[in-house]
Amino acid sequence: MGEWIDGVWVWSLNWIRGLRARDEEQVSYLKTHINNFALVAGRNDEWKWKANSNGVFTVKTAYRAIRKAAALNETGGKKFEFSLIWNTPAAHKAKTTAWRVLMGRMATIENLLKRNVIIPTQDISCVLCQEKTEDSNHLFFSCQKTTEVWYDLLLWIGKSAALHSSASNHLMGFCNIGHKKDILFLTGIWICTVWCIWKKRNEVRFNHGEQRKIHWVSWEQICMPLAEGGLGIRLFSEVVRVFSFKFWWRFQAKESLWAK
Ligand SMILES: [Zn+2]
Repeated sequence: MGEWIDGVWVWSLNWIRGLRARDEEQVSYLKTHINNFALVAGRNDEWKWKANSNGVFTVKTAYRAIRKAAALNETGGKKFEFSLIWNTPAAHKAKTTAWRVLMGRMATIENLLKRNVIIPTQDISCVLCQEKTEDSNHLFFSCQKTTEVWYDLLLWIGKSAALHSSASNHLMGFCNIGHKKDILFLTGIWICTVWCIWKKRNEVRFNHGEQRKIHWVSWEQICMPLAEGGLGIRLFSEVVRVFSFKFWWRFQAKESLWAK
C-alpha cells in the first residue's frame, strides 16, 4: 500500500491485473484525491465534525447544517434567481409576477383546477394557441406564440440560445446569454417579457382583446438618443455608471438626504 519515507507517507499501489486506459484515469483521480490528505505517523484515525470549524460536534452546528440544507431544498436552489429578480431595476409589479412564475403560483388554469376553482370546461385551453391546457410552463415558455416572442427577443438582442421550458432554467438560460455584467439587465428584460405575456393573456382571456402584433425596433435604434429617433435606452452598464455619477453629484451638491 505504501511506506513512510523521511516521515512522509508515500503510496505505492499495486494492482492484480494490468490497467486499461479507463482504469488509468480513475487511478489518477484516486491519487490526486488521496494526496490531498497528509497522513501523520503514529496517530490513529479519528472522527471530525465538518460543520464545526474545530471538528467537534455540537447541537447548534448540527441544527444549522440541517436548516441550511432544508432551506436549499425548499427553494430548489433558487435562492440565486430570487436575489437576481429583486435586485433588478424593474417595476415592482413585474418583479412580483416573475417571482410568482418562478414559484409556480400564477393563477393559470392548471393551478385553478388544482385548487378546485370551477372553470367552464371549454375554457381550459391556452388562450394564445387554443391547443394545450394552460399551465405556467406552457403559457410562458413553450406555447408556440410565446416561444416566438422569446425567439424574436433573442434575435433583437443579437444572441441565440436554446431556452428551457421550465421557469427557472429558462431564466438561467436567458440571463446567461450575454456577458456576466449584463445579467441584471437581461434579467430585467426577462421579467418584463414574462409580465407582458401575462398581461396579454389576461387581455385575451377576459377582454377578448385582439392579439396585436408586436412591432420590433432594432436594438441599435432603441439605444439611440431620443433626438435621433431612439428611445434613449443605453447599455445597462452605462446606465449604472451614469447613476453612480448622479449619486456622487447629488452627494457633492448636497441635494440628497445623506449629504444633509
Ligand atoms: Zn399555447
